[in-house]
Amino acid sequence: MPSVVQVPLEAQPSDHFDAVAATNAYLAQIPAEARARSDAYFEGGYWLTLWDFLYGAVVALLLLQLRWSAGMRNVAETITRFKPVQTFIYWTEYSIVTAILGFPLAVYEGYSREHKYGLATQTFGPWLGDQLKGQLIGIILGGIIVTLLFGVVRRLPNTWWIWGAVVTILFAAFTVMISPVYISPLFNTSKLLDDPRITGPILSMAHANGIAVDKVYEIDASKQSTRMSANVSGLGSTMRITLNDNLLKRASPEEVQFVMGHEMGHYVLNHIAKDMLFLSVVIVLLFGFLRWAGGWSLARWGDRWQVRGITDTAVVPLAALLGSIFFFVLTPILNTDTRTSEYEADMYGLNTSRQPDGMAQAAIHLGEYRKMNPGPMEEFIFFDHPSGRNRIFAGMRWKAENLKLFTKP
Ligand SMILES: [Zn+2]
Repeated sequence: MPSVVQVPLEAQPSDHFDAVAATNAYLAQIPAEARARSDAYFEGGYWLTLWDFLYGAVVALLLLQLRWSAGMRNVAETITRFKPVQTFIYWTEYSIVTAILGFPLAVYEGYSREHKYGLATQTFGPWLGDQLKGQLIGIILGGIIVTLLFGVVRRLPNTWWIWGAVVTILFAAFTVMISPVYISPLFNTSKLLDDPRITGPILSMAHANGIAVDKVYEIDASKQSTRMSANVSGLGSTMRITLNDNLLKRASPEEVQFVMGHEMGHYVLNHIAKDMLFLSVVIVLLFGFLRWAGGWSLARWGDRWQVRGITDTAVVPLAALLGSIFFFVLTPILNTDTRTSEYEADMYGLNTSRQPDGMAQAAIHLGEYRKMNPGPMEEFIFFDHPSGRNRIFAGMRWKAENLKLFTKP
């Protein structure tokens, strides 16, 4: 994508300003080759959603059919008689085995493909290091929640699915809360942004909107990727707005202000809390599905898999398989939930920053890893943010109604 995105003639204020023409003029700045590349990358992601699902399903079925899962449980039982420790040992074995079986796909998806499209900056060694760190976090945090859940299942054989959902939701909130302080620093360094030329307009925008912050963070995302991005993370006292260094290096000041307005939108509109609420409903449904489909599968194949029942840790691959079916089917709904919040944040960002051209520029830069101009069904199913075209159009529609802000008296 062009590094500096100009405001095209059609998008400059005039008495014949037309939002559609302005949108098309912005899109015309994208070289055909860059668009083909970004389309290919993003459409490849559709197929990866399917391959990830099928690959994971095959791994889960192998662990059950070959009785490797039962074998890992037997190992855990010979090491200790103490149930929670057995669960933790099983989980560790399971995590290592599935990571090894999933390694070829992980290398393709996270390393080779990212390099092929020029989105990755890491060599293989540091990439692998990050994967191992992620694996270790998965063993520890996953081990804690899985041990808690089996405790619930063993004590509450009839109502476990309700209490299991409650425990999962609380644990998810805890993870979101500790993430910016304890997890993100394991991979990247964030520091306080202290350039007053950048922080000045941002903090002023925040204060005008009643956001009592005096800090904005910058993270060294360029360590892993060329993607421009920003986010709101944390919960309660750990909540913060972070810009990544790729954005700060390449974006115009107008673009940075729009992006910050967008992130403030997430903050002021309480999107993290609302997402947690939505996720809670999804998790309750998930546990209901696990109870029903898990019981049905165990009645049919439990003996063959040597899985003794839902209190047996060897049931984990079955739970993983059922969970992946559940989330695969829900993909368009989860994407639409996120995309709706993102659209809200866009509108908030536009009204707050008053930078429709910054919005268009940001949409083009984010188009390096997102298809710019999909069909409506495609956008509904696969997009977790509004498409680049729709974002530029939203900016230009806003500009058309606020032209007086851009014409000199
Ligand atoms: Zn957002």
